[in-house]
Amino acid sequence: MTSPAIVILGASALALARRVQARYPGSQVHGLAERVEADVRYTELGVHLRELYARGTPIVALCAAGIVIRCVAPLLANKGVEPPVLALAEDGSAVVPLLGGLAGVNAMAREIATMLDIAPAITTSGELRFGTCVLNPPHGYALADLAQGKRFVSDLLAGEATRIEGNASWLDDASLPRAQSARLAIRVTPFITVGGPDDLLIHPRSVVAAVGTASDVAAGATIAEHIVSALEAHKLARSSLAMLLAPLDRIGDAAFADAARTLDVPLRFAEPGTSGSTDESEEIHHRLLATALHVPHDVLHHSGSPIALAVAAAPVDTAHIGQARGRLTVIGIGPGCAELMVPAARDALAEATDILGYATYVKMAGPFRDDQQVHRSDNREELQRARHAFELASAGRAAVVVSSGDPGVFAMAAAVLEALETSGNPRWAAVELNIVPGVSAAMATAAQAGAPLGHDFCMLSLSDNLKPWSIIEARLRHAAEADLVMAFYNPTSHARPWQLDRALDIVRAYRAPATRVVLGRDIGRPGGALTTTTLGKLRASDVDMRTMVIVGSSTTRGFARDGEREWVYTPRWYGQP
Ligand code: SAH
Repeated sequence: MTSPAIVILGASALALARRVQARYPGSQVHGLAERVEADVRYTELGVHLRELYARGTPIVALCAAGIVIRCVAPLLANKGVEPPVLALAEDGSAVVPLLGGLAGVNAMAREIATMLDIAPAITTSGELRFGTCVLNPPHGYALADLAQGKRFVSDLLAGEATRIEGNASWLDDASLPRAQSARLAIRVTPFITVGGPDDLLIHPRSVVAAVGTASDVAAGATIAEHIVSALEAHKLARSSLAMLLAPLDRIGDAAFADAARTLDVPLRFAEPGTSGSTDESEEIHHRLLATALHVPHDVLHHSGSPIALAVAAAPVDTAHIGQARGRLTVIGIGPGCAELMVPAARDALAEATDILGYATYVKMAGPFRDDQQVHRSDNREELQRARHAFELASAGRAAVVVSSGDPGVFAMAAAVLEALETSGNPRWAAVELNIVPGVSAAMATAAQAGAPLGHDFCMLSLSDNLKPWSIIEARLRHAAEADLVMAFYNPTSHARPWQLDRALDIVRAYRAPATRVVLGRDIGRPGGALTTTTLGKLRASDVDMRTMVIVGSSTTRGFARDGEREWVYTPRWYGQP
């Protein structure tokens, strides 16, 4: 299940919200921006709740049930997604499941109630009578048909009894009216059975589809189509399919990824192992199952088919069969505050098993869950960190490398690509690599000042750690001569004491003393400060390594009205307005 959003309106609910958060790994506390510092900040409750609801995110709202109902009401007519929605009293005295009966809202209400030592306000009649929601089987099982399920429950509520066929151990403690001779039956089976029309059919996710090589798959049909027809041929339900298993050397093959996406199941890979015989039954898909599936199972296979289906006795634990295709995502956290981190970066962090980066940035990207591994390193160990990330990802982990600002601007993305290009390791090449952009320091600083980057500009790093100083000087001369606005990253440091003065001398040879300069220090971070000055007044001592320096062009201007703040901008025209 997706982790819930724990939504609060003010600081008084924060402590309880954190307790709920601890119960649900991966969950985040969402707080009203003007009132409370939370993991995610929103500005309008109604808009935010509707957005979460529409995305199918479970919601635990620490506010009045009425408020929550009114907020999501406009979306209720559409029966598409219905995530669990609960209202929790801010003092922890009541928990009310509101929506999402089939998505486990009552189970969540019970979990939260147990934690708080209160009674959940459960109102679902089937649930009250039988002590469980028969239509909401546990993880690893799927209800075959909801409409039929609802009829089944109303029959039970009307007084009928049921048999249970197959293993439904989660119903052992339920107070269901049972009788061996009952007309109704709950059937737990991966097969599309010929049971009665009124039976409640529940499919365990116990089928593993092993696929040989993509080229084994006959032309004209996709892997997914082959799997669906193999399932049909053996009268197996589609929702019994737990996962696809493919040979490890096909880990980067898009055809397998497409199939898994189409069938909406995990895709994992294993070494097929070697077979002693040349027997036809020792094809790759059989050998895959033999090496990777460590629970007793039957193999169903039509000769000549590129697919073998293994049926286990119970739902299979997909996380322990073979390995996933690893992922490496390079993200930028933005200048430092939560609002300026893009949602794709946040999603990558939520899905990460491992987070790597310079300790300061990793700290800004957190907090992390207990099940996430954090690998902090020194700022200079970029290539080593990139290699470590590939090692983790190629072993099937989801690694996220954290940069400040944008990862492609004087940061980790280039180091990661360099590590990949120079390695020649095919397993690294098979990793799913993504780079998520971020708000770079120049953009964040410019936005606070107004629009100094409104016309042509360049970004330069003044650090001569990785390039000769002569190159920096040459570029400064050219940029100054071209009348580009310049954004200086890494303007100075203790180890580079004279360079900034030298750089400013070069720029002053081409630009007037009245040229606008914007200094952004720790923008988006606590204690952040924005200063506007001129090239003539600027001193190197006004700048440190946490400062972004933007030097305007000849057209960059500033104005203030009636003693209010100054805005700095570079008009979009040049020469003639
Ligand atoms: N990838 C980062 C830049 C890394 S280089 C980005 O896109 O922003 C580090 C330099 O960026 C620092 O020396 C400083 O000049 C600038 N910088 C980074 N974060 C900043 C912030 N929050 N405020 C001002 N300058 C910042």
